[in-house]
This record gives sequence, C-alpha cells and structure tokens, in this order.
Amino acid sequence: MTIFSKIIKGEIPCNKVLENENFLAFHDINPKAPIHILIIPKVEVENFQQVTPEIMANMTSFIQEVAKLMGLDDNGYRLITNNGADGGQEVMHLHFHLLGGARLSWNHLCDSDSKKFL
Ligand code: AMP
Repeated sequence: MTIFSKIIKGEIPCNKVLENENFLAFHDINPKAPIHILIIPKVEVENFQQVTPEIMANMTSFIQEVAKLMGLDDNGYRLITNNGADGGQEVMHLHFHLLGGARLSWNHLCDSDSKKFL
C-alpha cells in the first residue's frame, strides 16, 4: 500500500483542497512552486500508463475544478505526472502535480545521459 492509499483511507493526514467520491486533491508536503497540489484517484492505479480512459475522463474535470478553486485558471499552471523510474515517480499511485502561483521555469530535465530507444 502506498502513502497515498493511506491518505485516502484517512490513516495519514493531508492538507485537503477538494474531494469527491472518486478523487482527492491536497497540498504537496514538499512544494516546488507557490501552489503545488497533488491530485489523485481514490481507486488504486499505479501511474498514467495504467490508467483507463474512463478514469481520466472524470479526472480531467476534477483537475480543472481544482485549478479554478486555487485561482490558477486565468494566469495558468503546469500539470505534470511522473511515470515510472525514468519519469522520476516516487509514489506508485497515479497523481498529477498542479503547479502555479508564479511564472514557472522550464529547464533541461535530464539527470543522466540519454538512452538509445530506436
Ligand atoms: P512523484 O515523485 O511524482 O512520485 O511525487 C510524489 C510527491 O508526493 C512528491 O512531490 C512528495 O513531496 C509528495 N508527498 C509525499 N508524501 C506526501 C504526503 N504525506 N503529503 C503530501 N505530499 C506528499
């Protein structure tokens, strides 16, 4: 069980932003921007590569609602999901990082030499 499953069950507290029957949004414990919210489905899904279109369809409107609630819908924000080892995913429960509240930087993201895939 991941730490996010424990948060969903209420076994670990979170700084909640929004919740409905299927999704939960809460502040990241280690914010990378003035506003840094994590948005997760309550159902256990490992990452974006595993998620179904049905879950994503409903998650999209929930994410948009969180962005609006945080006042980010006009000025903009960044939405990130880290997928798997190379994606830098640490918690193996699908989550989107919603980042905003300032003009965000966009730097080179590689920590290692690039791999050959083709
Ligand atoms: P990722 O590297 O994409 O898997 O991101 C995991 C995120 O979860 C990191 O940004 C962490 O700061 C955040 N995180 C880990 N534990 C907690 C927690 N208990 N409450 C809120 N955020 C957390």
